[in-house]
Amino acid sequence: MLKEDDRTAGILLNITGNGKGKTTSAFGITIRALGWGWNVVFLQFVKGTVETGEKHFFDALNHPLLRFEQLGAGLSWHPGDHKGMAETGWKRAEEMLHSDQVNLLVMDELNIALHYQWLELDRVLDALRQRPPHQNVVITGRYAPAPLLELSDLVSEIRSVKHPYDKGIPAIRGIDF
Ligand code: ATP
Ligand code: MG
Repeated sequence: MLKEDDRTAGILLNITGNGKGKTTSAFGITIRALGWGWNVVFLQFVKGTVETGEKHFFDALNHPLLRFEQLGAGLSWHPGDHKGMAETGWKRAEEMLHSDQVNLLVMDELNIALHYQWLELDRVLDALRQRPPHQNVVITGRYAPAPLLELSDLVSEIRSVKHPYDKGIPAIRGIDF
């Protein structure tokens, strides 16, 4: 067993499943990484420029080691140029996957963009395989494609047991966005 601070190799994490807690888990890891002085890039696929608690927080924080970018066209079931936006987002992601400077790259909802085939899976797998060896990557979203899970070092599937939405309660500010 390695001691925790002997580890230099980065890992690929995937947080998937139909329960709540995928994106918020990625925020939790982001906070930890920043606390250790890591450079973090958080790319949000799918969601457009939306006003969320996290956006307010990160804007106000203006943390020198964090880059937070919303690169989507809006909710996946709403009309919009999802494919075009996913491609723009992926160009940004590729830059980050080539950078030695990025210790943690989060690609929030990338699973969704792959599920709907807005992006080509093989391109994504290749870029992940070729990233700098110390770089850690977190991918979130429902419906993670099986080959991506196979490549991952850590996979958590969050299962919904209950959600207020089932009772007709819509997304709650401060809890869901
Ligand atoms: P969060 O951002 O709160 O961690 P998530 O990333 O796990 O949620 P997504 O699939 O990205 O969940 O869905 C985004 C929105 O859908 C959130 O507002 C979340 O609360 C809501 N949601 C998550 N799970 C469920 C569910 N099982 N039923 C209905 N709505 C859900
Ligand atoms: Mg999410």
